[in-house]
Amino acid sequence: MEMTGKVAFVTGGSSGIGQAAVRRLAQAGVKVGVLGISEDSVYSATEDLHRAGYEVLPLVADVSSAMQMQQAVQKLVEKWGRLDIVFANAGINGVWAPIEEITAEDWDKTLEINLRGTFLTVKYTVPHLKKQGGSIVITASVNGTRMFSNTGATAYACSKAAQVAFAKMIALELAENKVRVNVICPGAISTSIEDNTERKDLDKVKEPVEYPEGQIPLTDGDPGKPEQVAELVFFLASDAASHITGTEMWIDGGQSLLQG
Ligand code: NAD
Repeated sequence: MEMTGKVAFVTGGSSGIGQAAVRRLAQAGVKVGVLGISEDSVYSATEDLHRAGYEVLPLVADVSSAMQMQQAVQKLVEKWGRLDIVFANAGINGVWAPIEEITAEDWDKTLEINLRGTFLTVKYTVPHLKKQGGSIVITASVNGTRMFSNTGATAYACSKAAQVAFAKMIALELAENKVRVNVICPGAISTSIEDNTERKDLDKVKEPVEYPEGQIPLTDGDPGKPEQVAELVFFLASDAASHITGTEMWIDGGQSLLQG
């Protein structure tokens, strides 16, 4: 399906799921603003795509900073004059630890990036989406939505659960503007998210469960690939999903049904 002429904004677009979604959208002719926190990674990701002939714009901002996000969206809209697709995807695992060991600062950091970041991404893009309608896709997780066995990932799971509530609230609010809002809930996907994970003393709070045949029924335990998630993002962003809004979609090979 061609989507030439459309403009997208992808946060966390320089790695993992976001990077795969940027490529998938660009392949369909979409112009993509690629937002990341580190200048080096954003520029190296967009240079590769430029070389491949795609139209991409590097944007550097911290998703939890209102001022930086407002400026990034402004830069994107000034460049291409419109916005149709928003993928609010940037996130961190943060600190996973027993409740007594999670500091107030750990808690705030996870919620600021995952939840406040989603709020700011949507808040500053909505005025542009409203002009002609569009699609917002938010990356939550199996954690906090259909899986609660990941003991210690409390702040992360709460941020992800709240993203689902947020998506549903906004889906209803923006329906009259023909802006669809959906939320994807990936299970284990092979990315670098582990680099943003700090595990402390989890053996103290883990329930002893073993899955001798793997934790992902559809793949005998192998994690999903960012490209598989990108196909779902592409579908939800496209007119093929024109009647879908306010819906969460799990993409986990059955992992959350098994682990719960
Ligand atoms: P990733 O680490 O490759 O991607 C996360 C991206 O977010 C990175 O590019 C990072 O630089 C960016 N980011 C982090 N903090 C930021 C900030 N303050 N401002 C701007 N950008 C920031 O990992 P990923 O797996 O591709 O993660 C993407 C999303 O998928 C996250 O929201 C994550 O919670 C979610 N998710 C991942 C998995 C998995 O198994 N990989 C499972 C469920 C959900």
